[in-house]
Amino acid sequence: MNCRELTAVILEYLEGEMTPRDVEEFERHLEKCAPCRAYLATYRRTKEMAADVGRIEMPEEMKERLREFLLRRLPRQAPAS
Ligand SMILES: [Zn+2]
Repeated sequence: MNCRELTAVILEYLEGEMTPRDVEEFERHLEKCAPCRAYLATYRRTKEMAADVGRIEMPEEMKERLREFLLRRLPRQAPAS
């Protein structure tokens, strides 16, 4: 799994909708990738905040913004995992 793949499945991860095999890959990537750990923490916090204010889904726009936030910080050639 690389950084882009991780951002694509982060919601499934937080919702517990990934297969154990995918979770393992996801967490293996996190172990060696600080930007993705930061991204996950930010994503989770934002999601919790959204849940606190009224159990609403995180808006698509916010998801996109978070994704762009991470991708802008990645090296052009993300190392394959
Ligand atoms: Zn990464």
